[in-house]
Amino acid sequence: MIRKNLDILDQTIREICTNCGRDPKEVQLIAVTKTHPEETILEAYDAGLRNFGENKVQELVPKMEKLPDDIIWHMVGTVQTNKIKDLAGRVDWIHSISKVKYLKELEKRAARVDRIIRVLIQVNISGEDQKSGCEPEDIAEILTYAAGLKQVTVHGLMGMASLTSDRDVIREQFRTLRLLRDEHRRFEKENIRLDELSIGMSGDYDIAIEEGATMIRLGTSIFGARDYHV
Ligand SMILES: *Cc1c(COP(=O)(O)O)cnc(C)c1O
Repeated sequence: MIRKNLDILDQTIREICTNCGRDPKEVQLIAVTKTHPEETILEAYDAGLRNFGENKVQELVPKMEKLPDDIIWHMVGTVQTNKIKDLAGRVDWIHSISKVKYLKELEKRAARVDRIIRVLIQVNISGEDQKSGCEPEDIAEILTYAAGLKQVTVHGLMGMASLTSDRDVIREQFRTLRLLRDEHRRFEKENIRLDELSIGMSGDYDIAIEEGATMIRLGTSIFGARDYHV
């Protein structure tokens, strides 16, 4: 079923890109595997996927330890300072940096294991959950701080749209994130490149691609509905 879902997705992504004049190669698919066991992840791996994401450190860490070394792991959920040390030795990307204090801790922990970790700044575009993402006016401060880091490179912005069926609202929120990205290009430095826009989940990735997504984070449309909501 996973292979079939991936074939359908691949075709759908191509069509969406063709219709909006984008190259499908610009859109990276990240398979979000939360709640799914390792066998399921391996099925997607065998179908060719290499980019996988989780939203909880305690679920990501054991999966990172057991699954193949060439998987590129993305932490897409909220991070906490005391959990960053568990990620630093293996994670490749963290999409959800929303405060300077997380960058500070990440720099320290990544230095100890001699790694470079790629991050995105998560911005609260829905205006709802205050915990997920920084406010747009905080982006400049975070990027300014990040410019001085050696173990962390910033690659763009991440956002989650409101839980709404109003597609115009979702589009507006994604567009806002793209414009914020464009505005903050002036902060680009050696270790800061704002090329990536991580937007779009199973219900809204078509809108996200039309609005410039370079990373789409999909769970349900690859693996089916999750048994419980997390
Ligand atoms: C679960 C999750 C996704 C994927 O959600 P689906 O709707 O199943 O595609 C994407 N991003 C984050 C941050 C998630 O927690």
